[in-house]
Amino acid sequence: MQRLRSTLDRIDRKGYGAYKDLSGSHDFSSFVLFVDRVQRDPFAPPSLIRIRTTANSFEPALFENLVRRVAFEDFLTRSVEREIRRTVRGNRGSGGSGRVEIQRTTQVVLPRTSMVVEPNYIEARMAVGLPARGRSVDARAAKAVLLEELPEVVRRALVPAAEGGVDVERAMLHVEAVEDADHLRGLLPGLGLVAFVADGAVLPRESGASDRPLRDGAVPFGSPEEYRVEVELPNGGFVSGMGVPEGVTLVAGGGFHGKSTLLSALSWGVYDHVPGDGRELVVARRDAVKVRAEDGRSVSGVDISAMIGDLPGGRSTKDFSTPNASGSTSQAANIAEAIEVGTSLLLVDEDTSATNFMIRDERMRELVRREPISPFIDLVRPLHRSLGVSTVVVVGGVGDYLDVADRVILLEDYAPSDATPRSREVTKRFPPRAPLADREVLPPQERAIDASSIDLRRGKRRSVRGRGLHTIELGRERVDLSYLEQLAEAGQTEAVARIIGEWAATGEVSEVGELVRDALASVSEKGLDSLGGHGGHPGEMSLPRAQEVAAATNRIRPLRAVPKM
Ligand code: ADP
Ligand code: MG
Repeated sequence: MQRLRSTLDRIDRKGYGAYKDLSGSHDFSSFVLFVDRVQRDPFAPPSLIRIRTTANSFEPALFENLVRRVAFEDFLTRSVEREIRRTVRGNRGSGGSGRVEIQRTTQVVLPRTSMVVEPNYIEARMAVGLPARGRSVDARAAKAVLLEELPEVVRRALVPAAEGGVDVERAMLHVEAVEDADHLRGLLPGLGLVAFVADGAVLPRESGASDRPLRDGAVPFGSPEEYRVEVELPNGGFVSGMGVPEGVTLVAGGGFHGKSTLLSALSWGVYDHVPGDGRELVVARRDAVKVRAEDGRSVSGVDISAMIGDLPGGRSTKDFSTPNASGSTSQAANIAEAIEVGTSLLLVDEDTSATNFMIRDERMRELVRREPISPFIDLVRPLHRSLGVSTVVVVGGVGDYLDVADRVILLEDYAPSDATPRSREVTKRFPPRAPLADREVLPPQERAIDASSIDLRRGKRRSVRGRGLHTIELGRERVDLSYLEQLAEAGQTEAVARIIGEWAATGEVSEVGELVRDALASVSEKGLDSLGGHGGHPGEMSLPRAQEVAAATNRIRPLRAVPKM
């Protein structure tokens, strides 16, 4: 600390480059400050630091298994986030002078690189804008940030204390809530369920632009008697709610009665949520995929023949490629790719589906004879029967779906009821709908993709990075992930970019599922930090799912599929 102080005194008012002298470690007695990367000027991305406490005096119960540890790390990241807002003044000169940041969190709990809890220390990874006046070192401001504000953040956010420090009771509640959700998700297959929505859950969100819970007028969820299931959780005891069984589940109801909100909550049920979110005990199978239409996306050699037969000009759909998919072919590719990487639950919302992919009625069948699409309605049952893939589909407009559903959940004024018996009566009154074909569905034909089709060069350097939540950059190529509805935060996007970058650099020919499984196995063995390029601060990353890594890979426009050898 003394050395840091004297270094700062020495470089005061010198050119900004003199901050390089801070590189390395500085002992603050209760923690060590590592300065891993010093920014080149005050306007560049901030400098990267780590703070490692010299002890971990939290109760071991907070991090005694992997799930608890991830939850506790999440809690501490939020705790630092809050203390920075309270303690750090911020703007202290030109550019990003005086700013202190930690990886941004969202409503979900994920393994992140922002925080590491080990039995004998805690390490927080942060970014600091080293203060400048114009373009020269401002030592006084730097001292305020590094010698006053940072130690205060550490004292309040990373150390258990009766006064002012981390609230250990709240930390325990956080950890236990996450452990319960994870446990609940693990129970689903054994119960024959694909999803569970607890009684009392709050599903609607604050707004279309915010993932926080709706505060005013939210109607809490209440399960229909017919689907009520009771489960016992490790910390929360007995909890009741709606169990969604395997098979084909239809969510019906009038417009604006909460159908899409329910489906969206299920799609986020693959992740654990922070206490207070409202969806803490809304869970779905870990591999659930929400599939939608995405016209304009590129497709590389995907077997969509189960859904779409030969195209104009006799083009085969066993290895379908296009730089510009239509609504229906994009949705078919999304489903085939989800099955390819592995899924046991598809979530489909009519709001975001291509109509001709979902259904074709009698009149249109008469008029249009040359239709390559087998609509999804003829596919949902075989998908479950042949491949064990269940579906929850939201439909408000197409009654034909009543014929193929194992059960119908009706939403009225946000309240679900079991409409299965009534839907059986209704369907009896109409002539049965003739399916186009009563057939088996084969899994999509395997395909291999060629890493050498991706050029990572940007000028003289290789460049791979995430840009916000929805874009990754591979060399000069941008990959658009706007339609991956289950991508939760920018840290996942960054990790996906690096995983793809590592694979692309090998130049190998791989099967998508294999590439994704290998990459994630390596991450779970070596940790998320291993995706970081250099030692020290690894950058801001969160763990993505296999489904999103595959989906991002599949959207790389120059990606070339090669015949499987
Ligand atoms: P649908 O898909 O049936 O047309 P949405 O799910 O889009 O309806 O919901 C319509 C509106 O109702 C949205 O603004 C949503 O936030 C709100 N909403 C949904 N569920 C609830 C609920 N349980 N309580 C209060 N508002 C809700
Ligand atoms: Mg809707």
